[in-house]
Amino acid sequence: MNQIKVLAPATVANVVCGFDCLGFAIAEPNDEMTVRVISEKEVRIINHDHYNLPTDARKNVAGAALFALLEKAGADHGFEVEIKKNIKPGSGIGSSAASAGGAVVAANRLLNDRFSPLELVDLAMDGEKIASGERHADNVAPCIYGGFTLVRSLNPIDVVALEFPPMFVTVLHPQIEIVTAVARQMLPVQVPLKDAIRQWSNVGALVAALSKGDYDLIARSLEDFLIEPVRKTLIPHFDRVKLESKCAGALGGGISGSGPSIFMLSETEEIAAKVEGAMREVYKNSGIEFFTYVSKINTGGVKFID
Ligand code: ADP
Repeated sequence: MNQIKVLAPATVANVVCGFDCLGFAIAEPNDEMTVRVISEKEVRIINHDHYNLPTDARKNVAGAALFALLEKAGADHGFEVEIKKNIKPGSGIGSSAASAGGAVVAANRLLNDRFSPLELVDLAMDGEKIASGERHADNVAPCIYGGFTLVRSLNPIDVVALEFPPMFVTVLHPQIEIVTAVARQMLPVQVPLKDAIRQWSNVGALVAALSKGDYDLIARSLEDFLIEPVRKTLIPHFDRVKLESKCAGALGGGISGSGPSIFMLSETEEIAAKVEGAMREVYKNSGIEFFTYVSKINTGGVKFID
């Protein structure tokens, strides 16, 4: 076996109260990636899209993650990667993480599963650094593990795979650009202790509610006192989308990653479809182009196909 094909899922990071620690993977959309062994000690990238993503492997997140993996493996060969990108870069649903996560999972299979999922997260973070300037795991962890994950620590890397009940996610992706640097500059440097207490109480309650399948507690815990109040100003009609989604039956939700996408969790596919209708209603006369998706939560992370 010298080539492998995978589907790498989109992911939602910064799950409301879980800024920089909680994330989950969604069943659709996925990037389709083929990784093959080549005898030259290099990484080649072939992009099949119109996003103008880097073909220089050191500047592509998939390439950077594979260089890290090759070095750790002490390999005397290289890899070629073909990427069919279905997750639009910059959408806030983990386009770069899908490339980094998909690349290392596929390459690892070609190396007879030498590395553990946790080691793969660590390697994929080298790819994420190319996209955002920082090694972060809140998208690559759910991409590789599937489901909901909590990144307890980055150094050393520590990821907790969470249990969760059946849920569906609705995503609204307004076609506006949020410059990551601007979104980052808005983050508070210090937060009042009373807000921090409310925030970590909600994270604890959300994790417990997910494992118990307590939908009411999930809904009550999906509150963010620290980040959403400042970042929502970058997303037109954020409050109305949230309000109408909840009226349509959503458990709750918020900004996906650093935006501009907004996600909402629902108990059933039927409710998630109603939420999609409510989101579309808010945006239809906004003059802003948008896409919506309804998806199951992905389980199992990156999937092998063929
Ligand atoms: P997202 O949250 O959708 O991943 P990011 O802003 O984190 O969005 O990542 C997109 C950035 O990463 C873009 O600047 C893009 O050029 C860069 N990038 C490099 N390689 C890739 C890749 N293989 N897939 C997606 N984005 C990539």
